[in-house]
Amino acid sequence: MRLVVLGGGESGVGTAILGKKKGYDVFVSDFGKIKETYKEVLSINGIQWEDEQHTEDLILNADVVMKSPGIPDKAPIIKKLVEKGISVISEIEFAIQFTNALTIGITGSNGKTTTTLLTYHLLKQGGLNVGLAGNIGKSFAWQVAEDKFDVYVLELSSFQLDGIINYKPHIAIITNLSPDHLDRYNYDYNQYIAAKFRITMNQDENDFLIVDGDDIEIQKWLQNNKIEANVIPFSLQDKNKEGGYVQENNIYNNVNNELFTMPINELALEGKHNVKNAMAATAVAQLMKIRKQTIRESLSNFQGAEHRLEKVLKIQDVQYINDSKATNVNSVFYALDSMTTPTVWIVGGVDKGNDYDELMPLVREKVKSIICLGVDNQKLMNTFQNVVDTIVETTSMVEAVKIAQKMAEKGDAVLLSPACASFDLFENYEDRGRQFKNAVRNL
Ligand code: ADP
Repeated sequence: MRLVVLGGGESGVGTAILGKKKGYDVFVSDFGKIKETYKEVLSINGIQWEDEQHTEDLILNADVVMKSPGIPDKAPIIKKLVEKGISVISEIEFAIQFTNALTIGITGSNGKTTTTLLTYHLLKQGGLNVGLAGNIGKSFAWQVAEDKFDVYVLELSSFQLDGIINYKPHIAIITNLSPDHLDRYNYDYNQYIAAKFRITMNQDENDFLIVDGDDIEIQKWLQNNKIEANVIPFSLQDKNKEGGYVQENNIYNNVNNELFTMPINELALEGKHNVKNAMAATAVAQLMKIRKQTIRESLSNFQGAEHRLEKVLKIQDVQYINDSKATNVNSVFYALDSMTTPTVWIVGGVDKGNDYDELMPLVREKVKSIICLGVDNQKLMNTFQNVVDTIVETTSMVEAVKIAQKMAEKGDAVLLSPACASFDLFENYEDRGRQFKNAVRNL
């Protein structure tokens, strides 16, 4: 069987290694450049590869093709494969056939990484032999090739879900829905929602789907479509008292005939969105029969993920917070909502067609001044100039942080939560977050 892997990144190289181990004739092709370290790994494993080109003769004779998530369906090579009737699948779909491990699949528009890391932490603390994969760290396929774990917690983007046929997680989470990546879905929000719900399409009555019970789009979908899995909602209210709910500053998780409770102020992660993430992860831990005491301890000692409302330093009683991963308006909404002190807000970058209206009440209530950090700040300046006392522009992170220090008074916070992509001034959101942290440490 000939396996062609399109894309020589983490997911592609992992798939190639697994395919080779399972006896496939493997070829890796990347239209861009493959990293040197990956080239070495491929060569050491005797896997043929090419980069900066797609040689059609070597690709169109595949029996099966694994497409990396970054390659859009409209890429010419994908169209040709589809026309020839060759099956194009994702890494998860390829790898799952070679493992009996149980998987927990986590998708949604915001909170995937946080919920995935938190779920992994709860299960690991609970003593399970659990691996972490998907969009995080070492690829799933690569780990399956190494055959180390009984359970995997997988962060799944809509692109990975687009390429599944038979894959089903035993437990799935959809954290929430808001418009994102619409360029890959014909600018049709419904197509994007449908892609997210593919996570449950192969589930049956022995499986579980954990969802945000307050999310209107999720609830609409559940009403209009038949779901085979057992649905467990989580909510910040206490209307239905099923699944996860909140009452008098405590979370309650009524799952698997067990009631788990914990005061919200004992959770390590702050903010309403993290209450939701905690309820979702706890539901998984309950289904996996982790002891309540272990869940409670793990929720209170979890070290949050980098670049997500990450507390950097307190200098002269001003708290500096790195939320560089907030690349859309919805995640900034939760960041501002979680602020308990007057805030100097650093925002900006590459606008993705943002509508800032939903932030207005929060900005009025919490933000004292704004620093726009982007090449083109016009939209932010127009939107907020009459809303806050001071609004300034810069294209330098170091300068942004210095200005923020001058603007902030004792007891305030300085929050980097950009609502935008980072490519105008930074390599990626991680680079932006690290530059922020360095600038803060140098104050
Ligand atoms: P993803 O992996 O889906 O991009 P992350 O966990 O990396 O999600 O978080 C991305 C941003 O969204 C961060 O700024 C974070 O503070 C915020 N966030 C985290 N969880 C949620 C949630 N449940 N709802 C809305 N925003 C969230």
